[in-house]
Amino acid sequence: MQLTILGRNAPYPAPGGACSGYLIQNGQTSIMLEAGNGSFGKLCKHVDFRRLAAVVITHLHPDHCMDLHCLRHAIAGAIRDQKRTGPLALFIPKQPDEKFQQFAKYKDAFIINAIEDMPQVNIGGGTQAHRARVGRLQLEFTPNNHPLPAYAVSIEDEKGRMVFSGDTARTKQLEDLARGANLFLCEASGLDKDVDFVKKGHLTARQAGELAKAAGVKKLVITHLYPEYSINDLTIQASEGFQNAAAVAKEDAKYNVSK
Ligand SMILES: [Zn+2]
Ligand SMILES: [Zn+2]
Repeated sequence: MQLTILGRNAPYPAPGGACSGYLIQNGQTSIMLEAGNGSFGKLCKHVDFRRLAAVVITHLHPDHCMDLHCLRHAIAGAIRDQKRTGPLALFIPKQPDEKFQQFAKYKDAFIINAIEDMPQVNIGGGTQAHRARVGRLQLEFTPNNHPLPAYAVSIEDEKGRMVFSGDTARTKQLEDLARGANLFLCEASGLDKDVDFVKKGHLTARQAGELAKAAGVKKLVITHLYPEYSINDLTIQASEGFQNAAAVAKEDAKYNVSK
């Protein structure tokens, strides 16, 4: 499985950049993970959107879902032009309802799969996850601590497993989900000085590192970066928390996820 970074910023893009967006590819199966502001244009640099198998949205904040409006028009147009045969599977939380409904009505483009409606499995540590499958990829979602309903997601194929934190303060569920992951893509919304600001639903870079260390992940990549912050400061604090070298998500960078 290959991960490509489409956008790494929050809550607004850096010059020329994009908010949350990631492309996951396994053979012919391509999944867009998050569709934040500016991420759709970045996606098109790496894959033909007409061939996407699914789009996965962890929560309904604009920096994670705003470009679903672009994707809807692109997919609906491709179907009309007979360049795609059917709607795209959309995995999405169904709360808050008024935000969910603005995407659920796009039946010309999306087949809605509410994350809450997926079957639940025990993933160890007493944590339950909602499970879904796209091609050869297995997806597992655990609930986050964030101001609105939000999820972290594990994506696994026959060669490895990556976990994306979504937006969250530290939780036991995320630690259980991330345990032993080959790659942990984790939000790092602040520096040490922001501890009070982020505790309502985010992680600092150091907290991302500490969580990665506790979960025993093989590789940590931090993302969801405030555009005003120095990449160097974020890297240092994440690496200190991880007690190992943390990487920083870079737009257009590709990572192979394997054991
Ligand atoms: Zn959020
Ligand atoms: Zn966010």
